[in-house]
Amino acid sequence: MKVFLALLAAGLACASTQAQAWEGHMAITRASLQSYDNWDSAPYEPIEKVLPVLSVQNAPAPVSLKEFAEQLAIHMESIKWDWQPSTADGSVVSALEVLVKASIEPDGGMDQNLNLSPDQKYMGGYEGLSSQAIRHMFFRSWSPIDPVLSFHVPLHEMGFAPDRAELFFNLAKQAKKDGHTFWAYRFLGWGLHYVQDLGQPYHTSQVGSMRLLPFRVLLSVGLEAFMAETLRIVGNFHLSFEQYADFLMNPDRDSPLALAFKVPKADEGMKMELEQKTDLPINDGVKRLALASQQLAQAVVDAQMDMMGPLLMAPEMNLISNFYDSSGKPKIDFSLIETSTILAGRRTEMLSVLERAFGNTGVATRWYVDRFRTLTAEMSK
Ligand SMILES: [Zn+2]
Repeated sequence: MKVFLALLAAGLACASTQAQAWEGHMAITRASLQSYDNWDSAPYEPIEKVLPVLSVQNAPAPVSLKEFAEQLAIHMESIKWDWQPSTADGSVVSALEVLVKASIEPDGGMDQNLNLSPDQKYMGGYEGLSSQAIRHMFFRSWSPIDPVLSFHVPLHEMGFAPDRAELFFNLAKQAKKDGHTFWAYRFLGWGLHYVQDLGQPYHTSQVGSMRLLPFRVLLSVGLEAFMAETLRIVGNFHLSFEQYADFLMNPDRDSPLALAFKVPKADEGMKMELEQKTDLPINDGVKRLALASQQLAQAVVDAQMDMMGPLLMAPEMNLISNFYDSSGKPKIDFSLIETSTILAGRRTEMLSVLERAFGNTGVATRWYVDRFRTLTAEMSK
């Protein structure tokens, strides 16, 4: 059993191959905060200006950008440090624009190809895009109360997304306190990225549902084939979910989902906890979102199974290798699914579960930004 679990885990390590969660972080940030106004203006300044007031986890202020990157354990060359937001009319940039753009940056390579934890072998490995998974995901420790939902291998808590969200929140606070608004919102955007990643059910659950484990293959062919099949199937479900979400969020489409960020059908327990516990540590709030997302995983798998299960389970389908075939066409054509009258009812089911995932992500996005705005407003009094 132990060998079986270890092998399963090693295989699943690669299942989180994309590890990008939502492709549309910028759209999510903007849609979630669309009703907010009174944004500070955030004129650009070089990073060197803010370094003297920063302390990464109580370390002394970094003396150089290199030292700062080392303290954060990130690849400094993957970040465009001197990025400056532009406005059409040359007016001063608002903090919202900085926040929106920054919320996609952690997917740009800063967290890849690092050796951060022995758990990486179960969570995306050490190289390439998937190696960032350890910082962009979170699996709570296995609980006997919730044995199926919380199942993953190994059973202990894994993933640093909540810690990264808290770390950058603290840096944002330090920058804002000393009047460095541009960097405050840039760091806040980086932290927000990790929050939003945990709104994606496949980033909080290793398998999603026992329905995806091909036990038939295990019994009839053997362990190795079972491993390969599990990897392929979980990967197909994970990636097609993200691609479908991205397809629906395309700004050219008149999608009802933009509304999900504004008037969300979010997890009530999570909403209440985030709204009422005003002193909830950031780390714990983000873990609360992860729990709500994990509770959606089964429903996501069910909806996907109904809508495109045969396609995703078909022996020749492998999205991990590439979402596009050799002729450049997507292996799953969502526009065909969209227009199919037969699938109308199943699409509704899928939309409803996506709406809940988006709703959770929107609520957590606003909670994180609200906490920052409230705290820093108090600081400046
Ligand atoms: Zn990410």
